[in-house]
Amino acid sequence: MAKRKKLKKNVLYYSLGIIILLVLAIIFGTKTYKEYKYKQTYEYKLIEHGYSLENAKELLNYYKDNKQIESILNIPRNEAILKLIQEKYYIHKNLERYLSYLEKNKNKSLNDIIAIVNVNRDYEFYENDISTNSSDDTLLIVNKYYKLDENFEPNNLVTINNNYAYENNKITKDANDAYVSMWNAAKNDGYKLIVNSSYRDYKEQEDVYNNIKMYKGEREADKVAARPGHSEHQTGLAIDVFEINNQLTGTFKNSPAYTWLKENAHIYGYIERYPEEKEYLTGYSFESWHWRYVGLEAAKIIHEDNITYDEYYAYYIENKI
Ligand SMILES: [Zn+2]
Repeated sequence: MAKRKKLKKNVLYYSLGIIILLVLAIIFGTKTYKEYKYKQTYEYKLIEHGYSLENAKELLNYYKDNKQIESILNIPRNEAILKLIQEKYYIHKNLERYLSYLEKNKNKSLNDIIAIVNVNRDYEFYENDISTNSSDDTLLIVNKYYKLDENFEPNNLVTINNNYAYENNKITKDANDAYVSMWNAAKNDGYKLIVNSSYRDYKEQEDVYNNIKMYKGEREADKVAARPGHSEHQTGLAIDVFEINNQLTGTFKNSPAYTWLKENAHIYGYIERYPEEKEYLTGYSFESWHWRYVGLEAAKIIHEDNITYDEYYAYYIENKI
């Protein structure tokens, strides 16, 4: 009888022991598994890469695309990234260029670094021509990086009526309609606008450029004229516009008509293409008379955000493709 009781007791102890072991194994196993799982997360990987937990969370909050997080992990830890991503016009594909430009230009604001890189000013002019996407229509970009094909001709070119321009000035139909509306509004406010230059084809631009180059050399020619294919006048969307009483390039900027254009042109889809103090972005010195048709939507953003067309194109057109 006593022997049997002892056996029963032993079985009970063994069973209890096994249960305890099992429970411990489950607890330990779950913990190890959880750790294993955590190590697979980007939060862990970013922390391992040197970011604080808080920064890792900020990065993950900004980046929803795993590929982009991978690219952050592929470059050395850099806290400037946390500040760069807060800038409105930040474009991820330019990150490494921002960082390398920042490294060489520590005195510049992040806002400027982003704008400069977005418009390619970290590259030399004409270093690598990019073909202008001619399907961009009224949003075509042409500058010292983007080049129009020799054979490019705008669709729907019309001659601007002699009331609003000198003889034989052509722009696209949309640009012309908008210009006529703008002309009438300006007239109502007391300013009589006049276009003295508009569409120029590749060949004409080539002649202008080569002529200067022949006499003054390439350096000087590049300062005052666009190379063929790089002039916005080839798009049929640009006008050189003055006021009938203020037709000098040197003084138009001081005229009330210029102030009127600055305040109102965007309402008609026109923007100032080479504004004062934006030469470091546009690559062109201030040209108060050169106005560009981009359509209402783009003109509104460019006007409100006080950005150049080059910045607009980089962020709203090219980056969204
Ligand atoms: Zn012009």
